[in-house]
Amino acid sequence: MAVYRIAVDGPAGAGKSTLAKLIAKKLGIDYIDTGAMYRAIALKLIRTGTDYNDADALAKLLADTDVDFDSGKTMLDGEDVSGLIRTQEVSEMASASSAVSALREKLVALQQAMGKRKALIMDGRDIASKVFPDAEIKFYVTARSDVRAARRAEDIRAAGQPCDPAQIQKEIEARDYRDMHRAVSPLTLVPEAVIIDTSDKTVPQTVNYMMGFIETYFKRAGIKA
Ligand code: C5P
Repeated sequence: MAVYRIAVDGPAGAGKSTLAKLIAKKLGIDYIDTGAMYRAIALKLIRTGTDYNDADALAKLLADTDVDFDSGKTMLDGEDVSGLIRTQEVSEMASASSAVSALREKLVALQQAMGKRKALIMDGRDIASKVFPDAEIKFYVTARSDVRAARRAEDIRAAGQPCDPAQIQKEIEARDYRDMHRAVSPLTLVPEAVIIDTSDKTVPQTVNYMMGFIETYFKRAGIKA
């Protein structure tokens, strides 16, 4: 089977993981959620009370930490943490600690190793710019911040919790700012990426649109999907 990498970058809540998961299923390839990897480390930082600005303590924690996926589940040191990494506290810690280069180096190396073995679709902030600058296909998925906040509010309400969409929009915009302006591997739109704005499109419409680009690549590269 051909090895190719599909990179999907973009801000929080734009729909990257929903789209990447559906495309992975259609193509029969692995989906790697790099945000989940940063979240798993963030969970461990919270649990152990480790200060990510303390270089020695962080190095010790990273040397002693295993992050992986098992049938779509996010595994931290062998424990399924998929449900535990979606809290607001973990989101904030992941956004802040992912600016530390030692932490990024460890996760980027793991991600690059995953892309050597088999075809995959990977989503994050720095996939096209840093993890796989030579990825065969690059998408940048985005949406207006009010649309992203409304989607997030819907998820929270569906989970039976109250929320304030205006507050969520503020938090999303603050996280965008941090992700785009940090010194190390900021969220970057590379010039060759195909921009996908999901603000006014349904999920099936967007998947079809992205599949069109992927099939064009397959034809050119002589790959039979
Ligand atoms: O994508 P998600 O919102 O789950 O990512 C959580 C946080 O991890 C983001 O706010 C971002 O700061 C960080 N992240 C990153 N690089 C990636 C993926 C996520 O810095 N490739």
